[in-house]
Amino acid sequence: MRSWEEEIKAELLHIEKKTQKRQLHSIDFLNDSTIIVNGRKLLNLASNNYLGLASDERLIEASIRAAHEYGAGSTASRLIVGNYSLYEQVETELARWKKTESALIFNSGYTANVGIISTLVGRNDLVFSDKWNHASIIDGIVLSRAEMKRYQHNDLDHLEALLKKAPLHKRKLIVTDTVFSMDGDIAPLKGLVELKEKYGAILMVDEAHSSGVYGEGGEGLVHDLRLQEQVDVQMGTFSKALGSFGAYVTGKQWLIDYFVNKMRSFIFTTALPPAVLGSIQAAIHIVQQEEARRKRLHEYSQYFRTKLRDLGFNIGTSVTQIVPVIIGSNELTVQFSERLQERGIAAVAIRPPTVPEGTARIRFSLMATLTKDELDWAIDEIASIAQEMGLIS
Ligand code: PMP
Repeated sequence: MRSWEEEIKAELLHIEKKTQKRQLHSIDFLNDSTIIVNGRKLLNLASNNYLGLASDERLIEASIRAAHEYGAGSTASRLIVGNYSLYEQVETELARWKKTESALIFNSGYTANVGIISTLVGRNDLVFSDKWNHASIIDGIVLSRAEMKRYQHNDLDHLEALLKKAPLHKRKLIVTDTVFSMDGDIAPLKGLVELKEKYGAILMVDEAHSSGVYGEGGEGLVHDLRLQEQVDVQMGTFSKALGSFGAYVTGKQWLIDYFVNKMRSFIFTTALPPAVLGSIQAAIHIVQQEEARRKRLHEYSQYFRTKLRDLGFNIGTSVTQIVPVIIGSNELTVQFSERLQERGIAAVAIRPPTVPEGTARIRFSLMATLTKDELDWAIDEIASIAQEMGLIS
């Protein structure tokens, strides 16, 4: 019989053989668009810092001010003595920004999804989840012990067929990313609203990749489509376009009260450090005021997608700042990513199990703070490496 140590080592070896072994790389930060990895300067086409706010002086200053005022740590969970007054200010501003009754901040998008879902549904309920939803949504469903019904990606007919079969008396939650993190396509929100109304379901959306990016004031895709009254639970993160850390949920006051009382991943964890709250507050102001960043990001994204598609790459169904180049083979994808790095571009190989078998890809993500010259240079490099590798003609 093998010991547990041998079993774990054998499993690691198996992961390595499938070219799926993940490794940590130490990163140094040069500026918005350039990072240093293993001593090499790389153009950063792998970041979620879509608006370039992570290095914005106003966020950094706000963090410093908050740390000076409230301390380095929050000292306890929010229901004990961690709920310093900055929380209340930021949550009020957050609800105003999102035009909802109330808002609640969480320590991360992961804990928000795990907590929201496992609080809204339980053992006797049903969750209808898009097949490409983020791992934190899946983990929330598993934790809730509700029955998971996965519908084909963005397939409203399949979702309706599943809803039709569901017993009337069961609580039903439909949950979807608004922008899908590995494909950069978007959910059919209007159709989802129609179905949730027809079948009496709760609709929850994850705006992790659309907060700050869509909507007049960067509120997200739900606002862009003017569906904020119909979507029951809007979750999003501050860790991507908002350049900071943490996450939020917005909705009716009674729902937020319920979360404060019931959600274990909210109740049993230390509140965010004040410095983080400070930068969140600054970011919420900036995304509302600086629409030009959003516009530039959309222009760049469209330009990049069009160029890559014209070159013959398979960019799947992307319509956003997340642009996958789907290669298929793990080995070729890793090679492509290594070659990109050798030539000065940081872009990550995404492999199963993060994406389905046979769809390994390079996930490019763009930032508003890139220059047009940098983007053109990157496109030329990507094309030239792909030609050398025989990936495009
Ligand atoms: N939801 C989605 C769609 C995500 O892409 C991510 C992060 N990659 C999360 C939730 C988790 O957010 P966080 O990184 O803040 O934990």
